[in-house]
Amino acid sequence: MAVSTAPQSSDITEDQREIVAMVRQFTDEQILPNAEHYDHEDSYPEPIVEQMKELGLFGITIPEEYGGLGLDLTTYTMIVEELARGWVSISGVINTHFIGIYLLLKFGTDEQKQKYLPKMATGEMRAAFSMSEPELGSDVQAIKTTATKTADGDYEINGQKMWVTNGLMSALVFVLVKSDPDAAKRHQGMTCFIAEKESGVGENTGAYKGLNVPPKLKKMGYKGVESTELVFDGYRCPAENVLGGEEGGLHKGFSQMMDALEVGRVNVAARGVGIAQRALELALRYSQERKTFGKPIAEHQAIQFKLADMATQVDAARLLTMRAARMKDEGIRSDLEAGMAKLFASEAGRFCVEESFRIHGGYGYSKEYEIERLYRDAPLLLIGEGTSEIQRMVIGKKLLQRHKI
Ligand SMILES: Cc1cc2nc3c(=O)[nH]c(=O)nc-3n(C[C@H](O)[C@H](O)[C@H](O)COP(=O)(O)OP(=O)(O)OC[C@H]3O[C@@H](n4cnc5c(N)ncnc54)[C@H](O)[C@@H]3O)c2cc1C
Repeated sequence: MAVSTAPQSSDITEDQREIVAMVRQFTDEQILPNAEHYDHEDSYPEPIVEQMKELGLFGITIPEEYGGLGLDLTTYTMIVEELARGWVSISGVINTHFIGIYLLLKFGTDEQKQKYLPKMATGEMRAAFSMSEPELGSDVQAIKTTATKTADGDYEINGQKMWVTNGLMSALVFVLVKSDPDAAKRHQGMTCFIAEKESGVGENTGAYKGLNVPPKLKKMGYKGVESTELVFDGYRCPAENVLGGEEGGLHKGFSQMMDALEVGRVNVAARGVGIAQRALELALRYSQERKTFGKPIAEHQAIQFKLADMATQVDAARLLTMRAARMKDEGIRSDLEAGMAKLFASEAGRFCVEESFRIHGGYGYSKEYEIERLYRDAPLLLIGEGTSEIQRMVIGKKLLQRHKI
């Protein structure tokens, strides 16, 4: 039985309370009991993904007119926290999908929305988000993959992408490539293409020929959900698949992707809160069960101090994350706040997991205990959607912009 400390905040709506309760139950009954198995096997949690489709979780932020739940970023954030509390990899299955949805809703043409959103809402088509390459991650403007217009009006894409979450199981890849090598500034010559592919297929043929997915990368954690390279070798993408259309979207990809990263960072922050929350729950339980020197370790002040620090970090991370999500929902610029939330919550995830691991003593090192999985999963959050160093750069730059003298 989990010792949940998740808050019953008074400033959440009845609808939010209901959906969060539903996802929490799903997490407790379906994710937590099965995560260990899929983590150890490093296998795709297909039955869990199927149930997520039935619950409508692939369409949380898609408007009802396209078959989604029509919920805002704040509610999405609460849901992601719950899923990550169960297993960070499960939140990974919907996170890049969510970024694709955001890009379509904000920048897509009506035709692109009509074509993709209904199938994305049901989870029939799932999305990946691809910027990183073997030689770059933080320095997005250094992208080398190219798109060149062909005589028949299509774009031919060539190059290699790296670390694509959902790279195999996705049917759509929102991929940032260099479309104008002569652009005056590096970021001005980039375009986001909506690259279609066959879900679950390594070597695409027919219309998707030239887009191949090598075997998944071997990782220390974040198992189950695949991270892959993508090899574009003469892949043809029709001009209508430029995000926002050729007229509206060509060479606009960099700013589109940076906009999406703002919500992506809130999304990773929510995962940090979820894993920190779970680490705290495990520590609260274990510290009351384990006895040393004649009493439960929870009665030693040193352990209580650890629990106090963890609970404080969890709450602070959650508050920062909710603030960034609410500002975005209200249409207020929140790049600074999203960066702060991502930085603090991912570091809180690492901190709480390590403290919980210490509280577990030797058993924390055993695969029999859940904290061992969390210990391998937490570091990813320090890296994805921009490292802690990059968040500090964003925060510092935005601070100076807002407070210029
Ligand atoms: C499991 C996993 C899943 C991922 N999923 C995706 C995905 O779906 N799509 C995608 O596009 N990418 C994905 N990524 C890639 C991720 O976004 C990058 O790894 C991340 O942005 C860091 O880039 P890098 O690994 O190239 O590190 P680098 O950019 O090479 O950085 C190396 C180190 O240098 C530091 N550094 C870099 N520049 C500076 C600077 N100017 N000042 C100070 N320090 C600096 C960094 O903080 C880091 O500590 C994923 C990565 C992982 C591990």
